[in-house]
Amino acid sequence: MLFHRTRIASALAAVTTIVIVTGCQSAAATNPPPANIGAGNLAPAPVTFALPTYAQPPGQPQASQPTYPPPAGQQGQPPQGGPQQGGQQQGGQQLSRSYPAPTPSSGLASGGMVDLHNLTIGTKIVTSPERGGLYSCQTTFTGGGASATGAWYHNDGTYDLTIKPTVDGSVSWPHELSITVNGSSRVFTGNDLPDHNTGTYPISRSDDAYQYDRNPNSISAQTVLLELPANPQIAPQPQCSAGMTGIFLTGAYVFNAVDAGGRDAVATEIQDPCGGHPQSSGAYHYHGYSPCVNGDAKTHALIGYALDGFGIYGPYDANGGYLSNADLDECHGHLRTVDWDGAQTEIYHYHANYEFPYTVGCFRGAPTRVNGGGGQGGQQSEQPGGGGPGGQPGGGDQGGPPPP
Ligand SMILES: [Zn+2]
Ligand SMILES: [Zn+2]
Repeated sequence: MLFHRTRIASALAAVTTIVIVTGCQSAAATNPPPANIGAGNLAPAPVTFALPTYAQPPGQPQASQPTYPPPAGQQGQPPQGGPQQGGQQQGGQQLSRSYPAPTPSSGLASGGMVDLHNLTIGTKIVTSPERGGLYSCQTTFTGGGASATGAWYHNDGTYDLTIKPTVDGSVSWPHELSITVNGSSRVFTGNDLPDHNTGTYPISRSDDAYQYDRNPNSISAQTVLLELPANPQIAPQPQCSAGMTGIFLTGAYVFNAVDAGGRDAVATEIQDPCGGHPQSSGAYHYHGYSPCVNGDAKTHALIGYALDGFGIYGPYDANGGYLSNADLDECHGHLRTVDWDGAQTEIYHYHANYEFPYTVGCFRGAPTRVNGGGGQGGQQSEQPGGGGPGGQPGGGDQGGPPPP
């Protein structure tokens, strides 16, 4: 699946820059030295460009209630738009998000109930691996992002994902993704544009989501070139997460669980119904599971890859129940027998589930540091300068207050 060997050679030859993307963070990070998993002679020196951060304009109105109706149980799949030449295409339909009724996990470990109406707002940013925490390379957060609260936000430290507003619109994109195994590497090339429709960005003033999050960024194509270990190995020590954590099979990036302010990005930023939004250089990304992957199959299925090469699987166990953090270790994964490259293999893998830190809590293997800033350890500072096509200079992420 998703193997397009014929395209890889020309795609690699055409790449002249590695697009460096990091999470919704802007402060300098203190990272360990990057693991230089080589791009061989195909890769020039990395270029760092703008990081995802945007400020919430002051004085945003507080809405009493989001105007969204609660998602119905069966609203169907998001509309599947075909690739559109020349960029985005506005569709007439709205994406919709729907959730199956929460079911108990089968309890691969100790089990647990995941209640989408009362998810814990993640605050556990830790400096060593801890279950339910994000082992973040960055420990000081000074950036912007949205810190919206509304009716979905509860006073007891939980939130109701099912009533959280989502960004309106249904925009299709000329998605590209190629995954090939080349020797010991799994090589990803593409443009970060997802194979599903997205919401309309920048968030429109007429969108109810605008009351909470005025993300001013537009989605734009990125130059994806990732070389991850095809046969990843467990490292002696877990490693911290810095910004980007992987890529989903939709073709779009996955960032870690927090925004530029160190807040739970799933709970406090407004994404589209597929769980994605763009950062300041236009890179569309998720912070957690996307119900638009794999048709949201209720199986223990591969939905992406982490930067250490291990797989990211969806939120379901083999019986269709939600996996909770109690089923997972401190890096948000576990060692189980899964379908791996077409064979039943006992291998470590992560799960994207509905509990903070949502995807990768720490890396079990040696991650490819894509935000390495030229190998200097992953500085997450705002830097101007383009990356690949569509990359925009940094610093253009201030939305500014809207007219009253
Ligand atoms: Zn984000
Ligand atoms: Zn698993």
